[in-house]
Amino acid sequence: MNMQTKSTPRENGGAGHAVVVGAGIIGAATALNLQRRGFEVTIIDALPPGEGASFGNAGIAARCAIVPVPVPGILKKLPAMLLDPMGPLSMDFLHVARNAKWFIDYLRHGRASEVERIAAELFKLTDGSIDEHLELARDTGGAPWVTESDYLYIYPKRSDFEAEAFAWDIRRRHGIEHVEVGQAELREMEPDLAANFTFAVRLPQHGFALDPAKLVKGLVETFQKRGGRLLQAKAQAFEFGAEGAHSLITEAGTIAFDRLVIAAGAWSTTLTKQLGARIPLISERGYHIQFRDSGIRQNHPMMVTSGKYVATPMADGLRLAGIVEFKPMSAPPDPRLTERLKRHARLLFPSAELENAETWMGHRPSLPDSLPVIGAVPGHPNVFLAFGHQHIGLSTGPRTGRLVAQLVAGEQVNEDLSAFRVDRF
Ligand SMILES: Cc1cc2nc3c(=O)[nH]c(=O)nc-3n(C[C@H](O)[C@H](O)[C@H](O)COP(=O)(O)OP(=O)(O)OC[C@H]3O[C@@H](n4cnc5c(N)ncnc54)[C@H](O)[C@@H]3O)c2cc1C
Repeated sequence: MNMQTKSTPRENGGAGHAVVVGAGIIGAATALNLQRRGFEVTIIDALPPGEGASFGNAGIAARCAIVPVPVPGILKKLPAMLLDPMGPLSMDFLHVARNAKWFIDYLRHGRASEVERIAAELFKLTDGSIDEHLELARDTGGAPWVTESDYLYIYPKRSDFEAEAFAWDIRRRHGIEHVEVGQAELREMEPDLAANFTFAVRLPQHGFALDPAKLVKGLVETFQKRGGRLLQAKAQAFEFGAEGAHSLITEAGTIAFDRLVIAAGAWSTTLTKQLGARIPLISERGYHIQFRDSGIRQNHPMMVTSGKYVATPMADGLRLAGIVEFKPMSAPPDPRLTERLKRHARLLFPSAELENAETWMGHRPSLPDSLPVIGAVPGHPNVFLAFGHQHIGLSTGPRTGRLVAQLVAGEQVNEDLSAFRVDRF
């Protein structure tokens, strides 16, 4: 099929034909925002919408998630984390050695001044996350799948919270309000929680997706109802003219575009390297296990800091999501890591029924400075990138989609986006 039927509404007074590669939360939010600006929009994804990282995440719209993983002292903690049979980290050392430059850069960004800078940049994307979600989903099929809620960070003891003073101080200075919750109040809030969690902090102005995949599918369904096209095909290469790339070659034919957005998550660089952009993207693999009939009551989503995973009361059951595994993208999932999450579930909710479980592994798209790329590709002014949202793409998707659509439409953007520049590496 040759799809070079470039109907260019620009010729008819419209904004032009915009193609978005990737139907995850970033691509879906971008496409809806472009559509609102008068573009004729085609989304291309090799899979049905919301089947990448956006399928299985913990679903938190986390305004608070501005402190990156590498922080001062991380290097010293690495060996213990790796040896801990309940730890949050797993590494294939050959893979790490092959990507040594990425890892050295990643750890280098863990010094205090860099963490401060990164947090300030990430806050531009996370602030107002739940409001942005509600606004994006309003009047769409995504609306039933997103809800406001307080978010809890739970700890065995108050001293465990105090040990994270560095991160909480950064959050506090960005105006991220947190309320301390003592043992008795925590019992009241979460009666099924194990008794050895005696302290928590409660974060207002948060929320979560009751089913992140259905949220994305609902957004894309409405995009289609509003006249958007969804093409299920793999984007493979480009056709170039004097002014740069103008058409995308896909398994289903060639598609001409006026503007292109690459929002293909952890797979994005297979396309961007053909444009001469050097972007050090890797996958931080993550896992979930979801229990359909756990029988427990969970009133709030929780970050369980002792295991560095999140427990979310999804529409279809209790989901524990977490683990960072550095391994090639093509390697099969490691069942020992979902087993680890299952053991955590037992410690978190001792009375839970854990038989009916589904497991999942997905790819967080991660750059060494923990910031995404958002902007035009040098030499290809009509091609824009929106990927690399690592652990917080669900939180930052709606804002990113709006910012990218503004850039694509040539509108004035009030935020300084220079930290997300494509050519910063
Ligand atoms: C265990 C875990 C828990 C998480 N928890 C949270 C959380 O609570 N809150 C939060 O904010 N974030 C969380 N995240 C991170 C979040 O899931 C990601 O940052 C986010 O989903 C990335 O979205 P995306 O649209 O960039 O990528 P994806 O959802 O991966 O979408 C990319 C899409 O591009 C398509 N694609 C790729 N290449 C091509 C091609 N060549 N042609 C056509 N299509 C292509 C893929 O099929 C895919 O559908 C978590 C991640 C994991 C793994």
